[in-house]
Amino acid sequence: MGKLHDQALLKYASYWQGNWQSAARSFNVTNPANGEIIGTVADATAADAKKAVAAADTAQADWAARPAAERAKLLMRWQQLMLEHQDDLGLLLTLEQGKPLAEAKGEIAYGASYLEWFAEEAKRVYGDTIPAKSSDQRIIVLKQPVGVVAAITPWNFPNAMIARKAAAALAAGCTFVVKPAQLTPLSALAMAELADRAGIPAGVFNVVVSTDAKAIGKVLTEDPRVAKFSFTGSTNIGKQLAKQCADTVKRVSLELGGNAPFIVFDDADLDAAIDGLMASKFRNAGQTCVCTNRILVQDRVLDAFTEKLQQAIGKLKLGNGTDDKVDIGPLISDEACDKVDELLQQATENGAKVHCGGKRQAADSLFYLPTLVTGVNNDMALAQQEIFGPVAAIQSFNDEAEAIKLANATEFGLAAYFYSRDIGRIWRAAEGLHYGMVGVNEGMISNPVAPFGGVKQSGYGREGSKYGLADYMDIKYLCLGGLDK
Ligand code: NAP
Repeated sequence: MGKLHDQALLKYASYWQGNWQSAARSFNVTNPANGEIIGTVADATAADAKKAVAAADTAQADWAARPAAERAKLLMRWQQLMLEHQDDLGLLLTLEQGKPLAEAKGEIAYGASYLEWFAEEAKRVYGDTIPAKSSDQRIIVLKQPVGVVAAITPWNFPNAMIARKAAAALAAGCTFVVKPAQLTPLSALAMAELADRAGIPAGVFNVVVSTDAKAIGKVLTEDPRVAKFSFTGSTNIGKQLAKQCADTVKRVSLELGGNAPFIVFDDADLDAAIDGLMASKFRNAGQTCVCTNRILVQDRVLDAFTEKLQQAIGKLKLGNGTDDKVDIGPLISDEACDKVDELLQQATENGAKVHCGGKRQAADSLFYLPTLVTGVNNDMALAQQEIFGPVAAIQSFNDEAEAIKLANATEFGLAAYFYSRDIGRIWRAAEGLHYGMVGVNEGMISNPVAPFGGVKQSGYGREGSKYGLADYMDIKYLCLGGLDK
């Protein structure tokens, strides 16, 4: 931590009402690369979460009443500060989350890009006028902020998952309370410090850090002052939280788990497909919701593709994210490594073959060796659950119809990818894949101008793009009557 240029970015307490808040208890944040404690953070309670919601509620009317251009200026200032401190924020993120420094800095730029995008979009929230059915009436549609927004975010993108929600909420005129994952609170708190420096008013952006996710989640989903709840995390927890929101009929957005297929058709440019796959599979050590989970390769190119993939995997460098030229950092926890072990063991017991990797680098480390496994089928847990580790699992298929059927045979529907050069096949596959996002000859699809989100049990709602503000706005219709008199 001594390496941070700006030590004031290190905050160890929740932030609401524009103040850093102490707590009776605290918890440690550790570096997954070596187990070192990197900070001790005040552990907020449910009562604290209520106070944070109260702060957001108090600030709501003033924030909503400000001209969009004024909110936009503050968001732009926040974005600039994030970029000015990209190195420090990136380092902090690597230390608590483990991803390689270059990726961590990339995440800061990615998070900041949502602040920029929604600062611009804030100025373009247009209403409508609708031709009335009667000559003495006029019909007008206004868009207004929903009110206080509460959010819960995961550890795999400690900065960007917050930025993606907060940018849209604040741009729309909503105040915001977030509970980040307990494994990665420091990035969220550094964002609060920069929001404060940017001049974002007290109560508009609040962060509650806690080890008691259940209790904080109960407040954020059940408090009637919260108008909208936005969650990014696992499908199981998302379902529970959506149920909790039902009693107060909150607006809900869910960005949940995925099980992305990556289809390689026999007319694909195999080298391009390898590049796309390496980015989509191994980024963040395979711990992203849009990571390729199942690689489906057409029989005719199976051997050639597998050989190229094994060569590419052999070049990956595993190591501490702060070391030079590292491609893959540690997994987030012991449980994460155990889960990958279990999925691989079950697959090999059922006939799959591990070509490389397949275990931790050392028994007591969280570094998992990049793994290639073939002979997988869609019934295996390896193909039906999120692997969330650096495992490339290959299945084969015979024809296009089989590929689409296999790809859709999952309860998830977040991201899918396929490689082909045939224009007819490209349209058929793009339309046939039951997913919220499809990369066609492209392995990296996330950016602020596009609508990010899923279908089926991957959730609902969209983040980013011109659609991203809609989740944070109510539509109000005005009927002006008596105009003929
Ligand atoms: P998770 O266990 O669902 O946790 C996500 C967040 O929910 C964390 O802040 C966690 O807090 C909190 N939480 C856990 N149990 C809770 C409860 N009972 N009540 C209220 N909050 C609770 O998921 P994860 O393992 O951290 O993250 C990985 C998952 O996120 C994967 O499934 C991945 O696909 C998904 N994800 C989806 C997207 C997307 O955009 N669709 C993006 C990134 C990740 P604590 O950590 O403090 O326990």
